[in-house]
Amino acid sequence: MMPNRTERPAPAGGGRPGGGAGGRGRPGGGTGGGTGGGFRPGAPRGRGGVGGAFGKGGAGRGKQRKSKRAKRQELEQMSAPSLGGVNVPRGTGDTEIRLRRGASITDFADKIGANPAALVTVLFHLGEMATATQSLDEATFEVLGEELGYKVAVVSPEDEDRELLEGFGLDLEAELEAEGEDELEERAPVITIMGHVDHGKTRLLDAIRQSNVIEGEHGGITQHIGAYQIVHQHEGRDRAMTFIDTPGHEAFTAMRARGAEVTDVAVLVVAADDGVMPQTVEALNHAQAAGVPIIVAVNKVDKPEANPDKVMGQLTEYGLVPEEYGGDTMFVKVSALQKLGIEELLDAVLLTSDVMELQANPDKSARGVAIEANLDKGRGSVVTVLVQSGTLAVGDTMVVGTAHGRVRAMFNENGENLDVALPSRPVQVLGLSSVPRAGDSFLVTEDERTARQIAEKRETAERNAQLAKRRKRITLEDFDKAVAEGKIDTLNLILKGDASGAVEALEDSLMKIDVGEDVQLRVIHRGVGAITQNDVNLATVDNAIIIGFNVRPAERVAELADKEGVDMRFYSVIYAAIDDIEAALKGMLKPEFEEVELGTAEIRQVFRSSKWGNIAGSIIRSGTIKRNSKARLVRDGNVVADNLSIDSLRREKDDVTEVREGFECGIGLGSFNDIKEGDIIETFEMREKPRA
Ligand code: GDP
Repeated sequence: MMPNRTERPAPAGGGRPGGGAGGRGRPGGGTGGGTGGGFRPGAPRGRGGVGGAFGKGGAGRGKQRKSKRAKRQELEQMSAPSLGGVNVPRGTGDTEIRLRRGASITDFADKIGANPAALVTVLFHLGEMATATQSLDEATFEVLGEELGYKVAVVSPEDEDRELLEGFGLDLEAELEAEGEDELEERAPVITIMGHVDHGKTRLLDAIRQSNVIEGEHGGITQHIGAYQIVHQHEGRDRAMTFIDTPGHEAFTAMRARGAEVTDVAVLVVAADDGVMPQTVEALNHAQAAGVPIIVAVNKVDKPEANPDKVMGQLTEYGLVPEEYGGDTMFVKVSALQKLGIEELLDAVLLTSDVMELQANPDKSARGVAIEANLDKGRGSVVTVLVQSGTLAVGDTMVVGTAHGRVRAMFNENGENLDVALPSRPVQVLGLSSVPRAGDSFLVTEDERTARQIAEKRETAERNAQLAKRRKRITLEDFDKAVAEGKIDTLNLILKGDASGAVEALEDSLMKIDVGEDVQLRVIHRGVGAITQNDVNLATVDNAIIIGFNVRPAERVAELADKEGVDMRFYSVIYAAIDDIEAALKGMLKPEFEEVELGTAEIRQVFRSSKWGNIAGSIIRSGTIKRNSKARLVRDGNVVADNLSIDSLRREKDDVTEVREGFECGIGLGSFNDIKEGDIIETFEMREKPRA
């Protein structure tokens, strides 16, 4: 049973370090057809043309505030040939530029050391209107690159990962290509059940599983591990079938978004008493987009009001035409409740999957996809993987996304220990270093070192992608630089305050700032109350800065803002806010001190003491509260008092210098006594903020 590792086919072309990037990045070379935005045919191409507006706006904007770097660039560009009146450093025609999928003109400009505004102009002359930060499709980049002498390769995260693996001598594609017919064996189809809520997906998954339990073969307890395999008698043969045990298209789509194509056949469940519903349509769209064949299970036929014909008629409109009507979609009437039609449904799935001739080579080290993963208190990282090719064995070292480790034990859906898992088998794996995500692909490596190195490289790549995302967001400090580089000309603000009067006053004062000619100040949203997730999302979309006036972020919002790189500023006096914004607009915002949160406490009870004033009986919700640190009091997201300090800190009867998360303590805020149950005490210190 053990796979013969030594016979693993050598990758054709041996590793191809760094090779093939150009070709890969451009599937189908597709500059033609569906390029999305497309080039307006009537628009001017090439030199000259519509100089007017852009010749001035693009290149000449904000001259007096050019940074040194921008100036140097400009000088360098003076010697470069110009296009449409702007100067851009040109490539040789073979100069390669690699851009990530979703990149913008600004990213392109960064790579070639050009002014984004100049590239906007060039693109305009090529007949395409785009802003500097809008993400462009591959074809647009190719045309822009061609014009300027660059070969642009747009690489997806999957491409990058493929190259990473190739660097380790793991060329998965070459391996697949090298596989001979005789090495391939039939494998079980992998099926996902989709459909509208309450149409019976979960019931059907249970019914399929129960009606095909192999008697006496397992002593274990049925467990939900994210997928299960059954054996079904079909045309005189025992056939294995694998079902993904997470119903619905959300999981299916999430996995696809991560590049994992797991499903061979989709079963679309439609309740015969309800008919086609919104999620039915969504599900079939997702399956069709993935090119996965669909079998329709018309469920709940036991119900008196069931009307299967109606379902068939409705689905015809979506291209799912029943065989009875001359189409090629199989419809099977079932009752998940009464376990009717289950065998017929399984037969239909196998008829469909047999046409696909699903095969895999079991005789090599395993590859596949993580289907479910979680952290178990006792067992550590518990991951269900679906083996897609090869054989996974206990003792193998594997890397799953950014998790790695040695397979300590494997279990099937009945809780039984397995030594090996063949293609299409879902298994729960113990022994990984961390918890991967559903949809992460896995592979087995020669040794633990390789697994660890791949995991680490992936982690670095992920971190860099995250950083790049954050760098795109505007901060008050960077605003001036971004203006000088032509990346931005409007400072978008979201204002939140504790009262509508305060927000209006702040907005009025902001609008009175003399911003000069080159930049604009725009308030895109204003509101009363704590800063919410919605505010942060809006800031992300519109690249805005959030100003909180006597308000704080609601729970978990600060975390989200940090992750997304959204700049949030908090003020309690209007002129301080105005000063900062003015300074940012004029490029004079000094590296300031930033607030670093130390800990928060929730007041559970207020003890009144004639000697000490009011003492806040509190529980530390996060971090550590230290005596003498700065503090503020927050009530329902509003700052009630700022500039406080932790005057006294007691645990039980003792004075202490600090108290950590999860512990209870008594906090005295000096002469400040206006505290209430449920109030939050935030403590922080000021640290000098490093300039980017
Ligand atoms: P899901 O949201 O698609 O997973 O739907 P469930 O499997 O949770 O089923 C929704 C409801 O429909 C439950 O109350 C089921 O008992 C019921 N149900 C599912 N299948 C059938 C069926 O074949 N006949 C009848 N009468 N009820 C069913």
